[in-house]
Amino acid sequence: MSRQITFELQAECPDTRARAGILHTAHGDIPTPIFMPVGTQGTVKGLTQSQLADELRAPIILGNTYHLFLRPGPELIKQFGGLHGFMNWPNAILTDSGGYQVFSLSELRRISEEGVTFQSHLNGDAHKFTPASTVDVQLSLGSDIMMVLDECPPYPVSHESARASMERTVRWAGAAFAHYRERIKQVPGRHALFPIVQGSMFPDLRQECARRLLDLDADGYAVGGLSVGEPRPLSMDMVEATEPILPRDRPRYAMGVGMPQELPEYVARGIDMMDCVLPSRNARNGWIFTSEGKVVIKHARYRDDPAPLDPSCACYTCRTHSRAYLRHLFQAGEILFSTLATLHNLKRYLDIMGEIRQSILLGQFPAYLRRVREQNALVR
Ligand SMILES: [Zn+2]
Repeated sequence: MSRQITFELQAECPDTRARAGILHTAHGDIPTPIFMPVGTQGTVKGLTQSQLADELRAPIILGNTYHLFLRPGPELIKQFGGLHGFMNWPNAILTDSGGYQVFSLSELRRISEEGVTFQSHLNGDAHKFTPASTVDVQLSLGSDIMMVLDECPPYPVSHESARASMERTVRWAGAAFAHYRERIKQVPGRHALFPIVQGSMFPDLRQECARRLLDLDADGYAVGGLSVGEPRPLSMDMVEATEPILPRDRPRYAMGVGMPQELPEYVARGIDMMDCVLPSRNARNGWIFTSEGKVVIKHARYRDDPAPLDPSCACYTCRTHSRAYLRHLFQAGEILFSTLATLHNLKRYLDIMGEIRQSILLGQFPAYLRRVREQNALVR
């Protein structure tokens, strides 16, 4: 089977595991390292597709299979040419398998060797996800990058149950790939499938999982089960333990991370792709990430502040509006606040990734990383 996406390595940091590259997909080239805005329900909350594509220039966004499966359903989305056609999004789309949401949102779930049965959090209807069915759903969505069904254990968990869950994840990945290799011959377009390294916070399990997934010869590999409530250094340790085992010529995706200051840390550990709801969710709650630290917009000190959110940001919000106006919109509960704040926070994340990428290409990433660490020590 030929590659569905290809990864072009452009530069490697001599001191860390960081690298810069280009991910070639059927819906455009993605410069890496990259941050992917989260578009849970076929929309990045508060933004139009034009704001995402033209203003933010996001080359890839993430969609959630669990939510789209329940509503409006993969058959309907397929009728509209997949998620690209349905939401009229020109660039690449990555979808998760839905497993994470089944484990975190739905009630009365039951795991068996075959898959997971669960009740919809919307209306209580019973559904089943199997390794094969989640590939089929994601093919109906037309994702450029699909994820295998995995089991994400809660934190903390015993070594024994983490092992059982990791081994199931490996078996499910095998089943998903067997089905995928058949289906991909019949469907148009190019759709990659990434397996997911699990193993909770145990380096030995993480390494064993990564080694066993290598047999799948996937187009890319994800590290899952992070950001489940563990201390942040532990999350970094897990990536550090896993990454050297993953093939250097394929993209690596750390799922669901992280805070702005963590982005270069993951990149330094060999990660190319990240996603997180933080910039968009926090934006709606009035928590703004800037190059000078956070701005909590409701604070009285911004009441008559004429400055933009971030003087060194070039986003529409910062070019156009004062903190005083944004604080007013937030206090008044106006919809526009969510849009303007989300636009800025996502721009901040994309800018950070752009800076990281540029520094790797110029051979200056170690200095960049040092600067970020010093700034954070000052903020804390
Ligand atoms: Zn801005």
